[in-house]
Amino acid sequence: MKPAPFSYARARSLPEALAMLGADAQSLPLAGGQSLAPMLNLRMTICESLVDIGAIAELLVASETNDHVTIGAAVTHAMIEDGSVPDPAHGMMRRAAQKIAYRAIRCHGTIGGSVAMADPAADWPCILLALDAIALVAGASGERRVPLDRLLVGTYETSLQQGEIIRAFEIPKLPPDARATTCKINRKTGAFADSIVTAVHNGQKSRVVLGAAGPRARILENASMSMAKNINGAALDQAISTDIAGMLPEDDAYLKHLHATNVKRAINEVMTP
Ligand SMILES: Cc1cc2nc3c(=O)[nH]c(=O)nc-3n(C[C@H](O)[C@H](O)[C@H](O)COP(=O)(O)OP(=O)(O)OC[C@H]3O[C@@H](n4cnc5c(N)ncnc54)[C@H](O)[C@@H]3O)c2cc1C
Repeated sequence: MKPAPFSYARARSLPEALAMLGADAQSLPLAGGQSLAPMLNLRMTICESLVDIGAIAELLVASETNDHVTIGAAVTHAMIEDGSVPDPAHGMMRRAAQKIAYRAIRCHGTIGGSVAMADPAADWPCILLALDAIALVAGASGERRVPLDRLLVGTYETSLQQGEIIRAFEIPKLPPDARATTCKINRKTGAFADSIVTAVHNGQKSRVVLGAAGPRARILENASMSMAKNINGAALDQAISTDIAGMLPEDDAYLKHLHATNVKRAINEVMTP
């Protein structure tokens, strides 16, 4: 199929992109086009104009302070994989990027496009939620800071408003003693996850996030607490089962087993020195 007709313009700066998006209520930002192009081709999305934000310098940079790393929204998965931007999670983001899709897609797909797309099985929403990232969202009336938990709403749904652009993600740096992992189960290389878990553990904080189960990635509160207290065995199984009960169909024993196994694997990886 071919897409419905639309106009295309490449923005040279963030203010220019915001002005272009503001001028047309039926316009969308285009990053690498890895999801948007097929959706337009299948007419699952229809828009009158595309504003290409992929070459805006401000969206392509990363910076760091003592406390956090800021990664521009148009930074590609490949740039993270190649170590071209600082990794606030001791290399975990870099390792995770290697497992997203194929290299050709990683060269175009962006961290901002991935989160804005809000596919429940995507890697970055799960990882950035576990890392307590904040999305810096630019709009006509200025910039707002949106924690990932409030940005992700449901399947292909975020709290972004028409005309807004994610400029960057501010990600707290993990302390030196912290351990972090992302465990992804997929049937073949390059496929979206059947189950994805990010676990982060240090002296102050323990967090387990599960993706590809239900409409959006979620923090597993009981599993996180169990990990913090180094609880294992049947008590951990019970905690995980309580967390995932509401996320999956009641009678799907296979999915429950798949996700529970992946959660335990991730917890085991961060707890084993
Ligand atoms: C075959 C295949 C396999 C894949 N496998 C995986 C996988 O294993 N794991 C995974 O996580 N992903 C996977 N992906 C997704 C891919 O890696 C991209 O992350 C995703 O398609 C987003 O692409 P993009 O950055 O090009 O955004 P686009 O396709 O350009 O845009 C996607 C959506 O986000 C909006 N958008 C883009 N940037 C912004 C912004 N800065 N602010 C606001 N809105 C914005 C667009 O308007 C559009 O609605 C796969 C994709 C394909 C085609």
